[in-house]
Amino acid sequence: MPAHPRFIVDSMLGHVARWLRLLGYDTLYFRDIEDWKLLRIAKEEGRILITRDVSLYRRARKENLEAILVEDPEIDTILAELSRRFGVELEFHKDDTRCPECNTRLIYTTSITDVAHKIGKNIALRYKEFWICPKCGKVYWQGKHWKTINQILESARIKKAKLVSKTMIKERRIYVGEGTTNNNALSTEKNSL
Ligand SMILES: [Zn+2]
Repeated sequence: MPAHPRFIVDSMLGHVARWLRLLGYDTLYFRDIEDWKLLRIAKEEGRILITRDVSLYRRARKENLEAILVEDPEIDTILAELSRRFGVELEFHKDDTRCPECNTRLIYTTSITDVAHKIGKNIALRYKEFWICPKCGKVYWQGKHWKTINQILESARIKKAKLVSKTMIKERRIYVGEGTTNNNALSTEKNSL
């Protein structure tokens, strides 16, 4: 698994693409794309496919592509699962974030002159940190919605912790069944502490 995985999402999961981009992950999303093209891009660019479509998921797995089938549409659940499986960091990094609209890496600035022509006076007076997209020109700041973003990330971290502990309990059960003299069982016990 790459240290900084890249993703491609199906056309039903635009909100997942926006979130992953916010968290700094290179994520492709097309409003309208045929399945075979989606699979081809995933294969050629080594991207993990995220989909709600069971048949698309099966096709991807058949072709040995890394893929995840989203069953629960709640964003915190999806992020928790992506974090557990692919190591997605559930933290916002101001120097490593992408444009939710176009996936381009954003430029961080505290200079009002960089963004003054793009924002209203009230925003300029209220905020000190901005992000500029060098491709589509959009300017972002941590507005009122930022509180919600942090709440969702916190909820995703809690859900991830639960998922991880569930997996560990399952593993422990398996090892207990196989006998405690197994070396793997000991190291699993150690890791779970
Ligand atoms: Zn952009």
